[in-house]
Amino acid sequence: MNTLEQLNKTAESITNIRPAYREILDFYKEVFRVQEESLKDIQLPPIIIEPDLLKIKQKNELPLIDPSEFLIDLKTATRTFLDICDLASRLAPGLSSNAQFLKKTLSEQAFDLEPLFSAILNRHDKVLQDHSLLFDVPFNELSLFGYLSIAPSIRACAEQLESYLASMPELQKGYCPICGNPPDIAFLNQEGQQHLHCSFCCHKWKSERMGCVYCKNNEKDMQHYFFNEEEKEYRVKLCDHCRRFIKVVDLRQMNRDFFPNLEMIATLHLDIQAKEKGYTNEGTERNEVYP
Ligand SMILES: [Zn+2]
Ligand SMILES: [Zn+2]
Repeated sequence: MNTLEQLNKTAESITNIRPAYREILDFYKEVFRVQEESLKDIQLPPIIIEPDLLKIKQKNELPLIDPSEFLIDLKTATRTFLDICDLASRLAPGLSSNAQFLKKTLSEQAFDLEPLFSAILNRHDKVLQDHSLLFDVPFNELSLFGYLSIAPSIRACAEQLESYLASMPELQKGYCPICGNPPDIAFLNQEGQQHLHCSFCCHKWKSERMGCVYCKNNEKDMQHYFFNEEEKEYRVKLCDHCRRFIKVVDLRQMNRDFFPNLEMIATLHLDIQAKEKGYTNEGTERNEVYP
C-alpha cells in the first residue's frame, strides 16, 4: 500500500470510531493528499550550514535554523494554495466562501502569494493582518491556507536538514531541533519511547518520557494527565508549572497507521478539554480553524 492509500484507510478507520470527525477529516485527508503529491514537484537548493556555525548551534543547544530560513518553492506552493482553496470550497462549508474569493482574487492576479508566505515564515503578523483586512478574510483562515500551502516545502527542507542532526548528540528538548518550534503532538513508539512532532516542519525527535516536554519540570504534584476511557490510545499531559499541555498517542494501543497530522485533527476534542481546564499549547493554534 502506498502512503496515500494508507492515509485514506487510516482516515476511514478514525471516522468509523468517531463519526463526528467525518466532515473535517474528509477535508483534511484531501489536503494531505494534495500536499503529499506536491512534495514530488518541489525543487529547492539545499540549505547549507557552515561547520563553524553548526558547532556554535551545537554548543548552545540551538535549533539548526530559524523558521525564516526555510525555502519555499513558490510555483508549487502557489498551485497547492489554489488546490486547497478548491478543496475548501467543496468540502469545508465554514471556509468555502472565503476560499472561493481567494481563488478568484488570485486568478485575477490581484494579489501575490509571496509576501503572504514570507510573512508566515517570518511571523510577521502585521503583514498577515493587513492582508486579512484587505481581503476581509479572517487572519487565522488566511494563515491556515498559507501555511498548508508552504508546508510541503518546509517539510522538504526539514528532511534535507536532518542530515546535520546525525552528527549531533540528541538534545531531547521541548522545541524542534531543526526549526525551534514547539511540538503539537507526542507519541510513544512500539518500545514505549516518547517522541515529539514539530508543529511547523513535521520533524520528529526523541524526548524524555518523564516530566513536562516544554519546561522539563518533573515534580510529582505539578505533572498530571487525563484520558477518556473509550480512547485508550490517547493521553493528555498537563503541566502545572508552565500551564501547557501535550497530547500523547500511544502507538502500542493503536491498530491503525500513525499520521501525526491526521491524529492532530482527530483529537481536537482533547484540545478543547485541556483548554477548558486552563492549559494551552501554542503548537496547536492553527488547528482551531474549523472547516
Ligand atoms: Zn521544526
Ligand atoms: Zn511545563
